[in-house]
Parts: sequence; structure tokens; C-alpha cells
Amino acid sequence: MTKRIFRSIFAVSLTVLLFAAVLILNAVNSHFTGIQFAQLRTETALAAHAVSNEGASYFDELDDAMNCRITWIGADGTVLYDNVSDSGTMVNHLAREEVRSALAQGYGQAARYSDTLLERSIYAAQRLPDGTVLRLSMSQSSVLSLTLAMSGRILLVVLILIIWSFLLARRLSRSVVQPLNALNLDTPLSNLEYEEIAPLLRRLDSQQKQLRSQSEELKQKQKEFHTVTRSLSEGLVLLNSSGTILSINPAAARLLEVTQNCLGADFSVANQDESIAQLVEQAFRGKKGEQTISLPAGRFLAAASPVRSEGIVFGVVLLLFDVTQKHQAEQLRREFTANVSHELKTPLHAISGYAELMKSGLVPPRDTALFSDKIYTEAQRLIRLVEDTLRLSRLDEGAVDMQWTGMDLYESARQVMQELAAPAELSQVTLTLEGSAASIRAIPQLVLAILFNLTDNAVKYNQPGGRVVLRIEDRSDAAVLTVTDTGIGIPEGQQERIFERFYRVDKSHSKEVGGTGLGLSIVKHAALILGAELTLKSTPGIGTTVSVTFPK
Ligand code: ADP
Repeated sequence: MTKRIFRSIFAVSLTVLLFAAVLILNAVNSHFTGIQFAQLRTETALAAHAVSNEGASYFDELDDAMNCRITWIGADGTVLYDNVSDSGTMVNHLAREEVRSALAQGYGQAARYSDTLLERSIYAAQRLPDGTVLRLSMSQSSVLSLTLAMSGRILLVVLILIIWSFLLARRLSRSVVQPLNALNLDTPLSNLEYEEIAPLLRRLDSQQKQLRSQSEELKQKQKEFHTVTRSLSEGLVLLNSSGTILSINPAAARLLEVTQNCLGADFSVANQDESIAQLVEQAFRGKKGEQTISLPAGRFLAAASPVRSEGIVFGVVLLLFDVTQKHQAEQLRREFTANVSHELKTPLHAISGYAELMKSGLVPPRDTALFSDKIYTEAQRLIRLVEDTLRLSRLDEGAVDMQWTGMDLYESARQVMQELAAPAELSQVTLTLEGSAASIRAIPQLVLAILFNLTDNAVKYNQPGGRVVLRIEDRSDAAVLTVTDTGIGIPEGQQERIFERFYRVDKSHSKEVGGTGLGLSIVKHAALILGAELTLKSTPGIGTTVSVTFPK
């Protein structure tokens, strides 16, 4: 801007100065021409007076070194005398401007350039009383010849003018730009003393305010986006058209094992997973895709989608959903189905085998009761298995059809004790109930299932003469059920596993005592639904204590 202002001022000042110089030169020239004309007129008048007195003899006395030309012209225009040229050869002068004026008005003057324009002649003519005209002329250097003659000095003046214009332009342009440079654009309205730029400053201020509010809005949106994506358990990665990471949330950084500093890095370099790389590549080609992949953190569903604008892919969104639990649940379900089928097959085969033997008459009548008893036992096992499987699948569905209600834990324990009194007696195990009433809010079927399975196990895996104690403790914040037995106990390494479906420490013993391998799975699941805490302590050969803490 300074340069442009400088150039403009420089051009204007130089033009003005040069123009002024030319005008002054012209004025000086006209002034001196005027003086010369006046001189010439006086000289002409004097000479005219002399010629009218002395006649042609006046010319004889003329000095040869005279600085002007003198011409005597007859009334018809013929040249009668000329001190420079031969009058006989000279053309008629009637057409000359100064001669015509002199003949008409008594006096006339004119100025004419020579052919080269380098010289100019000025003429003054006066009419004599006899009608003839006396003309005096002087040659004068023209402006052009003067300019050429003074070219050295004129060049010097022009040079001085250029330098002067340059300095003037520089000074002026700086003084124009300096206040603009000193403007505080952070607070445009603080510079309002320059009224010429006040509208501009006001506009600037309003635009700045607008920009500030837009940037605030943008920051807020970005913050919201980060807050949302940060709290997402799903991984989210945004890539631009060249595959650079624009945004990556902590979940994605953790799953892809990259640091969050990888923002701005090339995704193909940061990512190590081949399947994800292929999905992203495909998305860049405009094709959406998803695939279940294995990452160190588990099983994930990776979905890559192209982001389009006017048909052009300008980015890719990669989402990673954790399907580990779903995958595990599916696997568990498959295993469970296989286990159930296997568990069902054994008693069914036994029943079918015994029944076949009886049908074919191979069983002697005295053994019929024995075979019938075996069939009955296996059928009972089948019933228990089916019942436990159904119970477990209802729990798997979240026990949504069951009602929560206030109940007394001690009363439920007494009910279970009564149910199990006969089997306990059969196993020569003493069953006792201790503690006090404890009211809780729970699902009665589930509380009963917990009580029944724990007490049943305590009886089943006990020894003749052993003891089982059920204790109900009413605390301020919880009701605690403790089932203690003096049974065979569970080896340390298997205490976790017994809660798995169909897991049994000793399979044949479990079968012998009528176990299905599902009891503790039901207990664990029911406790989970009720929000109860389950703990187990066991020492092989000494006994087991299982505690369930029901929140109030
Ligand atoms: P089951 O129907 O076989 O009893 P559970 O799921 O109830 O199945 O128990 C799983 C296994 O845990 C049992 O087979 C048994 O080996 C062991 N177990 C459970 N409770 C006790 C206990 N009180 N004392 C010793 N072992 C136990």
C-alpha cells in the first residue's frame, strides 16, 4: 500500500512540478517577447520618422552592423529596400500580416517561425505618410532552441524536481500510512479519532464480534463433540481425504493401541490391523463395510463408512463396537446347548436301554422293581435337568416376568429347610437354622432358588454325621445368608469354576447325588439379578461356607 501511495504522490508531484516549470518558461518567454516587440516598435517609429524626412538616402547611412533587418515596402507590396537581401528578388510583401495591419491601421506586428522551428522572427511595421510601409524585424531564439541550448541546465532542474518529488512522495506516503499501521485492530473502535476510516473500523469491529461469536460457537461444538466421543465406549476415528487422523477418541486409541498424539498422523502408519486397513481403504473407494475382528482387547465390529459431499469422498468414519460380550454370550449359548443335549442324552439312553431290556423280556420278574427304580431315577434326573435349564434360561432373559416384593429371608430359609429335611435325614446330616427375621425387597422365586441350591449342595456334598447351618443376619443395610457345612469342601483352584454351567468337581459324585451341574450357575445368576453379593470359602475335608449379602 505504501508503495502505491508513494507511486501516486510521486507521479502527481512530478507532473505538477514539470507542468509548473513549463508554464513558467512559457510566461517568461511571452514577457520577453512583449519587451522585444515594444523595443522594435520604438525603433520602427524612429526609423519611419527618419525615412519620411530623409527619403531613401536614410538607408545609405545605415550601419551594416545593425542588429535588426529593415525593409521598406511600397504601398503595392513591392519591396523597395531591404538591408539583408536584394530587394529586386524579393516577393511581394502585401500578404504579410504585419504589412497588411500597417497599411490598414498605421501599425502592425507579427511573429513567425523559421522552417526548422528553431528560430523565430518578430516584425513591426509602420505606414509612412506617403503610403509606403517601413518594417523592422528581429530574430529571436524559439522556446525549442532555447530549451536545446539550455538542455544541460534544464536536465539539472528536472533532476532536482525528480529528487524533490521523490522525497516529497516518500514523506507524504509514510505520513499517510503511518496512522494506518499504528491502528490497534484488536479493538478497532479505540482508533475512532481518524474519522475518515471510522466506517471501516466500525465494520471491522462488528465483523470481529461476529467472528468471535462464531469461533466461540465452534469451540463449544468441538468441546461437546469431544465430551461425547470421549465418554463413548465405542471407538471413533475420523479421517480426512488423504487418510490423516482428524479425530480419535480415547476408546479407539486404546483399542488400536495408538497414543492420542497421533492426531494429524497418517492412519495407515498408525494402524497395525490389516482388516481395519482394508475396510478403510474400501471406504475411501466409496464402499461402506463392516467386519468382526479380533483385537487384543477382545472381539470388535469394525465399520468404516465414506463421508461424501457432492458425490466426492472427502473423509472416512471408522467405528469400533465391542462385541466381546455378545460373542462370548453366543459362544456360551452354543456350549450350553451342546452341554444340555449331552446331559439329556445320558439319562435318555439309560431309560431307553432299561425299557428295551424289560420290553424284550430279558429282565427276570424279580428285577423288574430294580429296573423300574433305575428308570424312575433317570427320569427324575431328566426332570431336574429340564427344570434347571428352563430356570436358567429365564434368568438369562433377565427374569423380566418376575415380581419384586418385600419378604422375610428367615421365613424363606425355614421353608427350604422343611423341604430338605427328608433328604438331609437320609444323608444323616443335621440341618439347623440360626439368626433372626430379616426383611428384604427381592424376587421370592430367586431367593428361594438361592436358598434351595446352596442348602441342597451343603447336604449333598456332606458326609454322614455332618452338619449344615443356615444363618440369617439382619444388618442395618443388608440381610446376610450364610450356609455352612462340614462337607467334603472344594479344592482351591476350582472354587471359581464351580459357578460355571455344568462344571462339577467330581462328575460321578454329582450324578450319584442327583446333581445337574447347574445349581450354582442359577445361584450366581439370581444373585446378580437381585444385586446380592456372593462369597465362598472352602477347605477340602473341612467344609464350605457360602455367604449371600442381600441389599435392603
Ligand atoms: P451340582 O448340581 O452338580 O451340585 P452345582 O452347580 O450346584 O452342581 O455345583 C457344582 C459343583 O460344585 C458340584 O458338582 C460340586 O462338585 C461342587 N460343590 C457345590 N457346592 C458344594 C459344597 N457345599 N461342598 C462341596 N462341593 C460343592
